[in-house]
Amino acid sequence: MRLVIMGPPGAGKGTQSAMIAQRFSIPHVSTGDIFRKNLKEGTPLGMKAKEYMSKGLLVPDETVVAIVKDRLDEKDCKKGFLLDGFPRTVAQAVALDGVLTDMDMSIDHVLNIDVPKEVLIERAVGRRVCKACGATYHVMYNSPSREGLCDSCGGALIQREDDREETVVKRIEVYLEQTKPLIDYYSEKGLLISMDGGQGIKEVGDQIVKALEKRQ
Ligand code: ADP
Ligand code: AMP
Repeated sequence: MRLVIMGPPGAGKGTQSAMIAQRFSIPHVSTGDIFRKNLKEGTPLGMKAKEYMSKGLLVPDETVVAIVKDRLDEKDCKKGFLLDGFPRTVAQAVALDGVLTDMDMSIDHVLNIDVPKEVLIERAVGRRVCKACGATYHVMYNSPSREGLCDSCGGALIQREDDREETVVKRIEVYLEQTKPLIDYYSEKGLLISMDGGQGIKEVGDQIVKALEKRQ
C-alpha cells in the first residue's frame, strides 16, 4: 500500500503513522524526521533545513523532492510506504507524481486528518519527543509512564524548537497557504480519505484502520 498522510502541524500525523506503519508493515517516511536526523548529525542538509524549520517555514521544494526520491529508491519502499509531511506544496505533489510514474508506481490513498486550529496549538505546544529515538508524547494526552523519560528507550523527552507557540502559529499559517490546497488536488484525483482528527488517539486510529481495510 502506498499512502500519504496529511493534515496541519500537530494534527496527529506522526502519531498515527507509527501505528499504520506497524499495522500494514510499510516504512514510515517522514521528511521532518529526516531533517531532524540530519540536524542532529550536523550534516549540510541538516544545517540548511534548520534555517527554515526554526522559523516555521518550508524547506525549498527541490531539496525536499530530492531526499524523498532517494528514500523511495531504497529497497524497503518496494513493498509500499507511508509518506508523512510530504508533499506539502502543489509543486511537491506534482513532482511526486512524476517520480512515482518513472518508477511505475502511484499513490493508493491520501489520509487527511482534519483538526480545528485551537486544538492544533494545544497539541503542538504540549508535544514532547524523545531525544534518542524520536518517539512522540504529549504532556496531557499521551504522557509517558515516567515523567520526562521515553517509554520505549528511556531517553530524555524534549520540546521541539519549532513547537514554541509563535512558531506553531506561523507553521499553521504556512499550512493554510501552501499545503491545504493539496486537499483539492487529491480530492479531484479521487484519492482523499478525510478523518475527524478531533477525537482521541485511539479513535482516530480506528477510523484510519477501518477506512484502509475497507479499501484493501
Ligand atoms: P503531527 O505529526 O501531525 O505534527 P503528532 O502526531 O506529533 O502531529 O501529534 C502532535 C501532538 O498531539 C503530540 O504530542 C501527540 O501525542 C498529540 N496527539 C496526536 N493525536 C492526538 C489526538 N487524537 N488527541 C490528543 N492528542 C493527540
Ligand atoms: P514536521 O516534522 O512534518 O512537522 O516538519 C517539521 C519541519 O520540517 C517543517 O516545519 C518544515 O520546515 C520542514 N519540512 C518537513 N517536510 C517538509 C516538506 N515536505 N516541505 C518543506 N519543508 C518540510
